[in-house]
Amino acid sequence: MDLRHHVRDIPDYPKPGILFRDITPLLAHPDALNAAVDEMAKPFLDQKIDVVAAAEARGFIFGTPLAMRLNAGFVPIRKPGKLPFDLHSFAYELEYGTDELQIHVDGIKPGQRVLIVDDLLATGGTVEACLRLLEKCDAEIVGCSFLIHLVALGGEARLSPYHIHSVLEYG
Ligand code: 5GP
Repeated sequence: MDLRHHVRDIPDYPKPGILFRDITPLLAHPDALNAAVDEMAKPFLDQKIDVVAAAEARGFIFGTPLAMRLNAGFVPIRKPGKLPFDLHSFAYELEYGTDELQIHVDGIKPGQRVLIVDDLLATGGTVEACLRLLEKCDAEIVGCSFLIHLVALGGEARLSPYHIHSVLEYG
């Protein structure tokens, strides 16, 4: 199945000059959704993943089914004000201003093998913040799995030296 047929290009969204890759047609198609989750999980099936971690909101869409494919647990990474227990936090730069992500201090036990999941790798800022949080948890980070990698934006370099897997690459 060519999953590319289920990704819709939206020019000038959310602002002029940006070509947005809209995955909602893929999510709405049962076979495409199933194939996407299979392909995202494939390199990690024999990697003894304990936990899949993903940031809201689109990371959650793929994170939980991937955890189930890998017989792993799921740990959410969230924006401030959403998680009720003790937290690790990491603030990071956006184009305008800063953002922050948080994880429960006991979400991941030291040494647990963790896979990070997101729908799309663009500049890498979101997943870089997730990596820093997981390092604070003393997780063993096995890699990062994405449906889409926008290669021209250079996000992969920010995630070095961790292993990156993506199903679809766009130049
Ligand atoms: P980054 O932090 O790597 O710059 O941006 C990645 C995040 O922004 C992802 O969580 C993704 O949901 C969102 N994102 C950025 N560009 C796009 C896009 O073209 N399509 C989709 N579906 N999400 C995007």
